[in-house]
Amino acid sequence: MRQAEGLFGEYDWERFDLLVLPPSFPYGGMENPRMVFLTPTVIKGDASGAQVVAHELAHSWTGNLITNKNNEHFWLNEGFTTYAERRIVEVVQGEDIAALNVGIGWRGLNEEMERFKDNMEFTKLKNNQEGVDPGDIYSQVPYEKGFQFLWRIERQIGRPAFDEFLKKYIATFKFKSIDTETFLDFLKANIPGIEKEIDLQQWTEGTGIPPDAQEPVSNLYTKIMSLANDFKLGRMPREDEVCDWKGQEWELYLDNLSKAVEASQVIALDARYRLSESKDYEVKVAFLQLAISSRCRDYYGEVEKTLKEVGRMKYLRPLYSGLVQGAGKDEEKILAKRVFAEARECYHPIAQGVVEAILTKHV
Ligand SMILES: [Zn+2]
Repeated sequence: MRQAEGLFGEYDWERFDLLVLPPSFPYGGMENPRMVFLTPTVIKGDASGAQVVAHELAHSWTGNLITNKNNEHFWLNEGFTTYAERRIVEVVQGEDIAALNVGIGWRGLNEEMERFKDNMEFTKLKNNQEGVDPGDIYSQVPYEKGFQFLWRIERQIGRPAFDEFLKKYIATFKFKSIDTETFLDFLKANIPGIEKEIDLQQWTEGTGIPPDAQEPVSNLYTKIMSLANDFKLGRMPREDEVCDWKGQEWELYLDNLSKAVEASQVIALDARYRLSESKDYEVKVAFLQLAISSRCRDYYGEVEKTLKEVGRMKYLRPLYSGLVQGAGKDEEKILAKRVFAEARECYHPIAQGVVEAILTKHV
């Protein structure tokens, strides 16, 4: 809270409480002013879930104090909040951890481009949602492409100038609802000539990832990416290379392993590092996705258990999709349908709808 006030100005809501909800809560967090709701999966036994708290706290400035006018400008809430979250994480947990989060987000953004390749409208920051179910368009795009856009502006004008801009933006529009044009007008008025240096229209109205977006710059990030690449050549990380890894390191590593690995490699990795038993659901689910994509049936019991234990959509979506997407998955489809039938009543109605849509599309 102190760090956030230093970055974004005074906290305007008097109290800040956190309420941890049951495992069926479908989101990581929900930024209700004064009382943030959290999934119990952020409690991991170390501080590595704190970035979700940083995110929801950041909404006290970006997303609650300044709100998007409607869902077509949702990136104004989530892109700014993701940027603000990582600035808090950088001060509290250090630059390396912030860079890992940028890298995990970068991977997620690239996966969304693949997911929306037949509907590129959904990859725009500002988009047309007439007749669109907000649940269908919900993705990492407003978060991560929005983050990338703001980070790009920061790189252009330098951090001190961007920090000053951010404070002024928040002070100017607090307790108002705005749209993308209002933001762009304010940006151009306060940073004259910015439109000549950054293609603002491509960033806000274009599809895909602009060419001036980028991966994080950090030695730890580069090391993990190169170890993930080695796995393709059959080299597992040595114990001394991973001894200080926590959840985010493993998550980034697992997310970047090729999905075409051999089942025997997946089993060997788990035999050494016990990832399927991780108390950290980010790690466990990233591993189980890998197990599903390599058709490693030994882990289907653990997949079922996980799907019945938590209703957070961040986990349900990739696990159910992994089971039912692709050809020749009869056994997996039967499993997915049975597990959903048995777990359904424990899911939040929004999560029920999301899983239903996945099964309807593929089964
Ligand atoms: Zn948010």
